Amino acid sequence: MNKRIVILGAGESGAGAAVLAKKQGFDTFVSDMSAIGAKYKSMMDERGIVWEEGKHTEELILNADEVIKSPGIPNEAPIVKKIMALGIPIISEIEFAGRYTNAKMICITGSNGKTTTTSLIYHIFKKAGLNVGLAGNIGRSLAYQVAECNYDYYVIELSSFQLDNMYKFHANIAVLMNITPDHLDRYEYEMQNYVDAKFRIIQNQTETDAFIFWNDDPIIQNELSKYGIHGQYYPFAEKKEKNAVAYVEDNQVHFEQPIAFNMEQEELALTGKHNLFNSMAAGISANIAGIKKECIREALKDFEGVEHRLEKVCRVRGVDYINDSKATNVNSCWYALQSMKTKTILILGGKDKGNDYNEIADLVKEKCTGLIFLGINNEKLHKFFDNFGLPIADVQSMEDAVNAAYKMAQKGETVLLSPCCASFDLFKSYEDRGEQFKKCVRNL
Ligand code: ADP
Repeated sequence: MNKRIVILGAGESGAGAAVLAKKQGFDTFVSDMSAIGAKYKSMMDERGIVWEEGKHTEELILNADEVIKSPGIPNEAPIVKKIMALGIPIISEIEFAGRYTNAKMICITGSNGKTTTTSLIYHIFKKAGLNVGLAGNIGRSLAYQVAECNYDYYVIELSSFQLDNMYKFHANIAVLMNITPDHLDRYEYEMQNYVDAKFRIIQNQTETDAFIFWNDDPIIQNELSKYGIHGQYYPFAEKKEKNAVAYVEDNQVHFEQPIAFNMEQEELALTGKHNLFNSMAAGISANIAGIKKECIREALKDFEGVEHRLEKVCRVRGVDYINDSKATNVNSCWYALQSMKTKTILILGGKDKGNDYNEIADLVKEKCTGLIFLGINNEKLHKFFDNFGLPIADVQSMEDAVNAAYKMAQKGETVLLSPCCASFDLFKSYEDRGEQFKKCVRNL
C-alpha cells in the first residue's frame, strides 16, 4: 500500500508539504484545527488533496506512516501527544522537502536577525544571477518550491521550531547569528533545550560544508566545544580577533575567506551594529558560494531592508517614528535601542515569553525619556520599570499608544515601537501591529 503522509496544519508550510507529498505519489491527508485559508484550500483542491478543517479526526491521522507537523503546533497538543505515543515519526516540512532536491541549501537561524540576513543573502544571490529560491519563514514554503520550481540554491530561514523536527536534513552553508533566550515557553523554560534546537542547524554537515557564526556569542562559544562540528568554521566579529574571517578595522569591513576583499562600513545599506553582523554573515555566505566580490559589495550597498525591522515611518513635528514591531524579544529591543541616536520614547509590551528586562535596563536609563506599555497585562512591566522615574502610559490599542507617544515626545526625539513581546494579546501578528503603528503615525 502507498505510504500515508498526514500533514498537521495547512498554512504555508503544511499546504506546501501536501503539494509535494501528493506529487511524490503518497496517500496524502491534511488536517487543521482552525479554518484553512481560501488560497490553500484551492491549492489543495486543484491537486485532489484530501483535507479537513476545524478538527483532527483521529482515525484519519493515527494511521499515518509519517506526520509532517507545522512548526506552530506545540508538542503538547493532544493530537501530537497521541501520534508520539504511537511512535509515528514526526518531521518538519523542511526535512520532508530536503529529501526531494539536490539544490544547495543555505540555512539561517539565530534568535535575532534571521529574516534580515536571509533576505540579504537572497538579494546578493539574485543579483549575482543565481537560480535561487527564498524559503522557510519567509515567502513560499520550501516544499512547494521543491515541487513546483527547480532552483539550484535555496536560502532558508529556520526557526527553532522548524529545527526541532529536522533529522537528516543537510545545510551546505549554515548560519547561526546568535542565541539569546526566546520562546522558552515552548522549551520547558530550559534554555539548554532551546540552544540544542538551534544547534541542529549543523547536524549532518561534512568537511565540505560551511558553518558561519558570531564569534563573540558566549553561548555559541560554549557549545562549540561540545559538538563534533564537521563543517569549515567561518566566524565573524565586530573587531579583528583570533579566527574571525570577517571584522571591522579602520572603518573597513574585511572579508578574509575564501576570497579576501573589503569595503567601507559606511557604505553598508543596513545601519546599526546588529546589521553589521547581518551584513557580514550574508557577505561570507555569498563569498563561499563563489559570488564575485564586486557583486557582493554592490548588493550589500543597495539592499532595501525588510519591513517592520527598524523601519523608518516618517517624521512628525520634528519627531522620528520607527517601526520595529518584529522585535518580539528583549535582545532585539536591546539592539534597536542601542542604535538610537536621539532620546527615545519606547513603546513595548504584549505577550511576554518569559522575558528578563534586565538586559535593556541600562539602555532604557540612558536613552529613554518615556515608556508606553502596550498590552492587556502590563503588570510585569510596571514591576520592573516603575522605579526608573520615567513617565509611563498604559494603553491597550495602537491608536492610544501613538497618541500617548505623540504627547510625550519632544522635538528631536524618536518614538520607537520595539515591543520585546509577541503581539497576540492585542494584534493578529507582528505585521498587523506594525501596520497599525504606521497607519496611526501617518494619521497624526
Ligand atoms: P528574526 O527573523 O530572527 O526575528 P529579524 O531580521 O526579523 O530577525 O529582526 C528582528 C529584530 O531583531 C529587528 O527588528 C532588530 O531590532 C533585531 N535584530 C536584527 N538583527 C539582529 C542581530 N544580528 N542581533 C540582534 N538583534 C537583531
